[in-house]
Amino acid sequence: MEKKVRVRFAPSPTGGLHLGGVRTALFNYLFAKQHNGTFILRVEDTDQTRFVEGAEEYIVSCLKWCGISPDESPQTGGDFGPYRQSERKATYKQYADQLIADGYAYYAFDTPEELDAKRKEASNFTYGLSTREGMRNSLTLPSAEVEALLSSNTPHVIRIKMPADELVSFTDLIRGHVSFDTNLVDDKVLLKADGMPTYHLAVVADDKAMEISHIFRGEEWLPSAPIHILLWRYLGWEDEMPQWVHLPLILKPDGNGKLSKRDGDRLGFPVYAQNWTDPKTGDLTKGFKELGFMPEAFVNLLAMLGWNDGSDEELFSLPELIEKFSVERVSKAGAKFDFEKAKWYNHAWIKNTAANLLMPEVKEIFATEGMAVHDDAYLLKVIDLIKDRCNLLTDFVLQAGYFFAAPEKFDVDAVKPKWTAEKAAFFEAYSALFDMSLDALQQEQKFKDMALDHGFKPGELMLPFRVMLVGGKFGPGVFDIALALGAKEIQERIKAATIAFN
Ligand code: GLU
Repeated sequence: MEKKVRVRFAPSPTGGLHLGGVRTALFNYLFAKQHNGTFILRVEDTDQTRFVEGAEEYIVSCLKWCGISPDESPQTGGDFGPYRQSERKATYKQYADQLIADGYAYYAFDTPEELDAKRKEASNFTYGLSTREGMRNSLTLPSAEVEALLSSNTPHVIRIKMPADELVSFTDLIRGHVSFDTNLVDDKVLLKADGMPTYHLAVVADDKAMEISHIFRGEEWLPSAPIHILLWRYLGWEDEMPQWVHLPLILKPDGNGKLSKRDGDRLGFPVYAQNWTDPKTGDLTKGFKELGFMPEAFVNLLAMLGWNDGSDEELFSLPELIEKFSVERVSKAGAKFDFEKAKWYNHAWIKNTAANLLMPEVKEIFATEGMAVHDDAYLLKVIDLIKDRCNLLTDFVLQAGYFFAAPEKFDVDAVKPKWTAEKAAFFEAYSALFDMSLDALQQEQKFKDMALDHGFKPGELMLPFRVMLVGGKFGPGVFDIALALGAKEIQERIKAATIAFN
């Protein structure tokens, strides 16, 4: 019988959530939902030195914003809990002990100072096949001494004993056949001196306990796969080993290496999903959400980092992604991150989303900018008029300003050189006759007719009219703007602008 699909996103709560992490969560989620499976959030917090207060809540909030909700998690619970590794501490030691008893692991008593000294001697020092004989461990010390050290509670770790001259091979659903030479893999620590497991032991024990069927994770974990595979084997669980799926890296825009938060800072774009404030330094790192990305666009652009559906189609909603996603179409090669393209997705989503659905978000952004909106119907009209011009939700503030307040300044330079008393007279006459019962097309016709009657080419007057209403040379159709503003407002703006142009 096919194993039931159970996948996990297993972040360590160490800080902001990188977009690569969200993409890992997303691909896990898509695969789970497509197979009527279960998507689990497991918090890997065994490294107390890297633990950051608030990081778990932040991860949960980022996933929620993206609409990627776990079926089992520390927050929702589930039959395979606890879902925080720190709360599962008691379960790991037995496996380390079992590995020792079976000769697959050993005690190591080397002090941090001794290890440092080794690293000073040789900067490429690793604890393993070629060096373990020269270290203080249960492979080199007489057993009586080992017993004595253990019974006197001398600090020690447990390390995996990597076998010599073996090839660990496996099939990765994206990479195909992969193999590692065990001579090149070091004897990783499995259980630390504080009794906490390391990532390597905990990840295998928990993937087994939680009956994980597929491990979707970033390519940076590929070098750890041979250790994990040996642990599955040594613990006697090889038959239940999940399938491996190592996702391609997300690269810097120039393709030169993995995209880091520092690249984002340097190049001026976000790398985290949401704003993250470092609790120690108080430093704020801006996220996609607060910059004005729609979650639908964020999810869409992440899905396209390393995947496509085989056609030219680029816009997909979450339900469409669930339907169309396939591991076979995930590429092996790293995906370059292009912030301009990211904005293109956001623009497309804003443009294609109905104004009433954008309204709550826009209202919130206006509120943070101190722009109070009292008339929802008017705001709806404004959103409809300008949404095509917004790459970011925050652009609404800039684009909508003149709908809520008369321009404080006019682009005089654009108008003044060709401004005449006759033009001023035209606008005075026009503003007095503005008829709200006409639609935008009829308005335009009337404007043109009047311009010709006054001896102007209509084109000469269009730009001044726009600058009068908006303050500058931007915005949607000028008659749409005029109709939204209404006759009284138009008259006032024409008057104020005329004074500025004269
Ligand atoms: N805790 C690891 C991380 O922070 C999880 C890696 C894995 O999925 O095995 O990404």
